[in-house]
Amino acid sequence: MSNKTTEILDLYKKVMMPTFAPSVVLATGKGVTVRDVDGLVLYDFTSGIGIHNVGYSHPKVVQAIQEQAAALTHSSNLFATEPQVKLAEKLVELSGLGGKVFFCNSGAEANEAAIKLARKWGNANGGRYEIVTFRRGFHGRTLATVTATAQAWCQEGYDPLPVGFAYADFNDLESVKAAISDKTVAIMLEAIQGEGGVTPATDEFMRGIRQLCDEKNLLMICDEVQSGMGRTGTWFAWQGYDVKPDLFTLAKAIAGGLPMGALVSNAKFADVFTPGSHASTFGGNPVAAAAALAVIDVIESEKLLKRATEIGTLFREALQAEVDKHDKLLEVRGKGLMLGVVVDGDPKEVVEALKAQGILALTAGGNVVRFLPPLVLREEDLEEAIDMMSDAFDCVFGE
Ligand SMILES: *Cc1c(COP(=O)(O)O)cnc(C)c1O
Repeated sequence: MSNKTTEILDLYKKVMMPTFAPSVVLATGKGVTVRDVDGLVLYDFTSGIGIHNVGYSHPKVVQAIQEQAAALTHSSNLFATEPQVKLAEKLVELSGLGGKVFFCNSGAEANEAAIKLARKWGNANGGRYEIVTFRRGFHGRTLATVTATAQAWCQEGYDPLPVGFAYADFNDLESVKAAISDKTVAIMLEAIQGEGGVTPATDEFMRGIRQLCDEKNLLMICDEVQSGMGRTGTWFAWQGYDVKPDLFTLAKAIAGGLPMGALVSNAKFADVFTPGSHASTFGGNPVAAAAALAVIDVIESEKLLKRATEIGTLFREALQAEVDKHDKLLEVRGKGLMLGVVVDGDPKEVVEALKAQGILALTAGGNVVRFLPPLVLREEDLEEAIDMMSDAFDCVFGE
């Protein structure tokens, strides 16, 4: 490790709470690559964990941020701004749900808003407040969302957790039925579980959830924080299924690297929140909203939904070829450019080998190597990256 990296990581260990253990110090990003403080260039197949769908430093996003920052960075929500209203209009249009939008600053906060909206409506409609969520799901790190996240590793030590959540097994409708009680108000799920292992819901499961929600007067809430904004080849992953949720949440990629979260409703639940009943100081921040409008413009003008599907197919085929070659690589999962390879072993070892070859990747679910490359990935970049990946897999599993 060279000087600058060592120097900053030493300081990190002294002053940063150890919630992460980074080994790379990044300085800049451009398109699908990042550069560390010592000049090392890496392919980022994490997109900063699902953020840079339009690539790092896209000129249109940079320009939108610069112009809005010079005009007005914050106004408080006592006043409206044009970018936030235009963005809400756009999200309503892209969703086709005909509802309204609430803005906040993160995925956890967007899911908190969804949970609060569901409870506010449920308490007034039959005294119901319980939300069914799924094992291996992920919804954030606040107390309520960590409880919604039915995974022991991120709940440990935080007792007492809030009441009002029941857990079911993903892609198992019988377990959902068993988890529903007379207190249930909503079912919340990721159409494609990200953190939990890159597992898509089956068509049958998504339709079954919608049907259960209709029968029992429950809200269907989709967490699109990771799978949204074009990642899986549609604007939102639920659009790849023959269903419509009542609410869905966005964050991560929405504002091209700036913090922003959003809760989008259908018409039925658009006015459950009333003045004063929920708020966020920075929510709908005009700089983030201007960046998000630019992100949407780029996804549309560069046809990135189609690209996510096409490049995703090529990437998937290349990963499948690796699975065919190595006994310890078991399966390719996912959709579009949200892909995972199931490993018989420790995925961290593979992520380390990929990094040594010059590719940043993620783990998921304890046995999955997860890839979330920018949607602007070109075929020639993918080809080069696949060669590097091939070497990394050979390195870990033998040729
Ligand atoms: C990352 C993530 C969250 C949490 O988002 P934060 O912005 O970190 O609060 C919630 N849900 C899903 C599906 C995620 O991937």
